[in-house]
Amino acid sequence: MTTAEDLATRVREGDLRIHELEDHADHDTAAAARRLVLEAETGVDLETIADYSFPAAEAEPNVENMIGAAQVPMGVVGPATVDGGAADGEYYLPLATTEGALLASVNRGLSVIGTAGGATARVTKNGMTRAPVFRVEGVAEAAETVEWVDENRDALAEAAESTTSHGELLGVEPYVVGDSVFLRFAYDTKDAMGMNMATIATAAACEVVEEETPASLVALSGNMCSDKKPAAINAIEGRGRSVTADVVISGELVEERLHTTPEAIAEANTRKNLTGSAKAGALGFNAHAANVVAAAFLATGQDEAQVVEAANTITTMDARKREDGGSDLYASVSLASLEVGTVGGGTKLPTQSEALEILGLRGGGDPAGSNADALAEVIAVGALAGELSLLGALSSRHLASAHEELGR
Ligand code: NAP
Repeated sequence: MTTAEDLATRVREGDLRIHELEDHADHDTAAAARRLVLEAETGVDLETIADYSFPAAEAEPNVENMIGAAQVPMGVVGPATVDGGAADGEYYLPLATTEGALLASVNRGLSVIGTAGGATARVTKNGMTRAPVFRVEGVAEAAETVEWVDENRDALAEAAESTTSHGELLGVEPYVVGDSVFLRFAYDTKDAMGMNMATIATAAACEVVEEETPASLVALSGNMCSDKKPAAINAIEGRGRSVTADVVISGELVEERLHTTPEAIAEANTRKNLTGSAKAGALGFNAHAANVVAAAFLATGQDEAQVVEAANTITTMDARKREDGGSDLYASVSLASLEVGTVGGGTKLPTQSEALEILGLRGGGDPAGSNADALAEVIAVGALAGELSLLGALSSRHLASAHEELGR
């Protein structure tokens, strides 16, 4: 039986390369051998990185050259009371982060939302996109290609959907720039975040485009998708789930629990999240939606690099006058491009799978897509809670003292 020590020796002697170890031993032994090589070369003790609790083989689709696991503390907030299109009831939301005070803040917001009767949330648009770029001779060929694509959606859908039993082609949006043609394919990927599914389906559709038009494929992703880059197209057209959550909170509750008024929160939101963000040239107009999105992504096995666009959020807050002379606070968050799934990718890993089970949203939904919709809605309500709590702290001028009290 090959031991980790044998493998490490062979790596050090140049007989094996670090990515070849799984060909010669099981995944845990291969990971142990890499640690031995690293420990010998760097003098660092990797005891904690080695202390993972799942079989390394289960992580094979998710990572290469595995040496262990990065353990990020996970907490829980809630319950989040959600009246959603797919989510319905009370949800504990697991969040993984290293930022102290974050969960305390989100929990405070969720508690206020719960007392107010809960938040409403809906997925208003759903489409995972892939946008290949093609080369043409010039504008005449570009126009010919666009016309063919417009008239042959069924042929493209047939090719794309032949690669998946769940994905459905929703549309293809063409864009022309000189002798480049971009085709932005959008799919309903049901409970999968869908980036692999959409890429494989689009590759099949591209073959048809190349057969039937003068266009030649240059790159399967032409960056108009737009994956893992800040881009206005996602903020405007959406990507993954476009989801909105809102709540109405009485002025009395705002005063009692957030120690401020609807008018003061609304003013802070306008001057900070709207005017300040506009002046800064920001893509998102929010206080810290990325905090909840990133922590939920880490906990539930989403692709963490997609936080770039998944956190793109507009927060609105308004003081609404009541007939009795009092006022209520209307608060909303709209996340334009929240890419989430409950099957596939990192969701299958044991830790992340347990986190999805806490939410009751592990695996495929019934109907397909409903679990990912519900996850998007719960994350949106978590983001709303974070916005309410932070804006409440800012408008009551309590932010610095809250951090001091928590010792950070
Ligand atoms: P995936 O793990 O590649 O595929 C998930 C598969 O689950 C689907 O293809 C589908 O099979 C199956 N499935 C079973 N039940 C389902 C249900 N209820 N709803 C939907 N699908 C169901 O995951 P993915 O979401 O397509 O892609 C996510 C992965 O892509 C992540 O690991 C991410 O890091 C990675 N990624 C890839 C790219 C890229 O360019 N390829 C870019 C960014 C990220 P059928 O299709 O056969 O129905």
